[in-house]
Amino acid sequence: MTKGWLDNDVALVTGANSGIGLAVLRRFLDEGATGVGALVRSGDSADALRLAFGDRVAVTVGDVRSPVANEEAVAATLKAFGKLDTLVGNAGVWDHFASLRKFESGQQLADTFREVFDVNVMAYLLAAYAAEPALRETRGSMIFTLSNAAFYAGGGGPTYVASKHACVGVIRQLAYELAPDIRVNGVAPGGTVTPLKGPESLGKQGAKLSEIPGFSGAVADAVPLGFIALPEDHTGHYVLLASRTNSPATTAAVLQSDGGWEVRGRPRRKT
Ligand code: NAP
Repeated sequence: MTKGWLDNDVALVTGANSGIGLAVLRRFLDEGATGVGALVRSGDSADALRLAFGDRVAVTVGDVRSPVANEEAVAATLKAFGKLDTLVGNAGVWDHFASLRKFESGQQLADTFREVFDVNVMAYLLAAYAAEPALRETRGSMIFTLSNAAFYAGGGGPTYVASKHACVGVIRQLAYELAPDIRVNGVAPGGTVTPLKGPESLGKQGAKLSEIPGFSGAVADAVPLGFIALPEDHTGHYVLLASRTNSPATTAAVLQSDGGWEVRGRPRRKT
């Protein structure tokens, strides 16, 4: 019986315990996926996922910056579900609008650059490296979570904006290298209500984006559609890109889900 667009598919999602990653995991299961592998960084997050989804998830605990953790996550997914159709690289860190002159020293800037790029860019490559053999077998796809900051200024400071711009290059190069066997695409959310955290190098590892006073209102005011998204608002794009039926000819694409950031500012309406 057909249940959804991803019937019998298997995915692996990094940062799957929270925010956009959790919403994608849940939506993939709703769309008929047999199971979803999850790479998360704490035992508590792993327990919560197992409690919520039982044997429909295969959870690995590890840091996305670790090559071994990425390899273990792929292996655990294959062991539980027998194949891999879609890798969703999603775990990320945000720089809390650390503009150039907010850094206390060049050393702090260097540390933040490395931390943000390691999590947001290198870890996507490590996940791709680990998953590529299995995805080649199924002629599957990779989907990476980017951001409005992958295309435009103002969604963070220079380290975050540069890291997300770099991910456009990751998608384009991998789409080129891995064709015709594996499609590689991205989804670029705008401001979204999630507990996205900051870098340790800035002492912001406990600071959550959704708890910044006025953040939701500021995002809503900054985009033509006039509201801040929930994680669920983006998940249809991941389903579309993962679906072989709907996107067989789509690679190197990034779907923007940002309330119209490109045409920021609301038109003046005559009353
Ligand atoms: P989130 O709920 O905090 O999700 C981020 C995930 O990444 C969490 O599961 C977090 O784990 C995990 N993570 C971070 N560093 C990690 C590491 N070193 N090793 C393993 N896991 C790590 O926030 P989110 O907004 O959904 O973020 C998901 C993606 O969306 C990110 O790539 C972000 O840049 C992107 N994005 C977010 C927004 C927004 O406004 N929220 C806008 C555009 C793009 P913990 O839960 O343990 O911290």
